[in-house]
Amino acid sequence: MNIIDLRSDTVTRPSPAMRAAMAGAEVGDDVYGEDPTVNRLEELGAATLGTEAALFTASGTQANLLALLAHCRRGDEYIAGQTAHCYRYEGGGAAALGGIQPQPLEVEPDGTLDLSAVAAAIKPDDIHFARTRLLCLENTHAGRVLPLDYLARARQLCNEQGLGLHMDGARIFNAAVTLGVPVREIAGHVDSVSVCLSKGLGAPVGSLLCGSREFVATARRWRKAVGGGMRQAGILAAAGILALTGNVDRLAEDHANARRLAEGLAAIPGLALDPAQVQTNMIFLCLPLHTADRLASFLNERGILISGRESIRLVTHLDVTSSDIERVLAAFGAFFAGHGGMHPGAPS
Ligand SMILES: *Cc1c(COP(=O)(O)O)cnc(C)c1O
Repeated sequence: MNIIDLRSDTVTRPSPAMRAAMAGAEVGDDVYGEDPTVNRLEELGAATLGTEAALFTASGTQANLLALLAHCRRGDEYIAGQTAHCYRYEGGGAAALGGIQPQPLEVEPDGTLDLSAVAAAIKPDDIHFARTRLLCLENTHAGRVLPLDYLARARQLCNEQGLGLHMDGARIFNAAVTLGVPVREIAGHVDSVSVCLSKGLGAPVGSLLCGSREFVATARRWRKAVGGGMRQAGILAAAGILALTGNVDRLAEDHANARRLAEGLAAIPGLALDPAQVQTNMIFLCLPLHTADRLASFLNERGILISGRESIRLVTHLDVTSSDIERVLAAFGAFFAGHGGMHPGAPS
């Protein structure tokens, strides 16, 4: 029985072709700028995102940290969502290592930050306050795609207020596929963007941080300082090149699978979700009280992995096929039909 892992798209494993490319990668010392495969990946990343330059980083967390360190100095501040990865899920790195304070704001249901709330949060030039320097947006946020006209308005606000604009684009390619535009049309609105190669794109390790030549040069200095100067990193970059060239268009399959899964789940009595809310590869569903643990172990016994508690997140990716989706739906159906999903006391 193959395992169907719906916990995250980070769980994807490198394909045989990717492993072969890694094994055969031409390498050099990347700290000297001499790894031809890393250089190729960085050029490809910049060309794809439409920026002057790009930097290969160990993780998305590192890419966001370098972006914050490059945009801001000690005593500066960045505005981000309460549930933004760069604020909530990155160990407070910018504050701990850069003396950069966050100004978190509530995220709207569509994944945006209300721009009038952003404008109101920008602090006046006064010695009482931190200097507000940067707005960070996340695309996709909880599977939601930021609209292009919203990005244009955010850009305009940042221009008017003298703020930099960073996009945590861990899943920006999912956004591009849903919008049906080249990813550079999204990235064109921001000063810098981080992109995960190791999620739905299927590379085992690595992210890119893209921006102007000057910005990337600053980020490269910080990458060395935080211990991210890797040597023969071409072995990893080779996987990233295949991820960018081979695994972008197929994200549409993940989205179709997520949509199919959402439609099937919505038909199960006791599960409340609206399939129309599913824009990319993520589904969120609220479960009846005290159900999550029993559901998780029921599915586990059937080779299906999920995570979460009252609200669970299901993520499709390149290691989940359309027939896997049918198996998942059958298992959910069996749980809610026969195992008393609505009855907390029922045996499981
Ligand atoms: C996964 C993720 C990151 C970075 O994660 P790493 O595990 O450090 O690569 C950043 N932002 C968002 C929105 C993410 O989902």
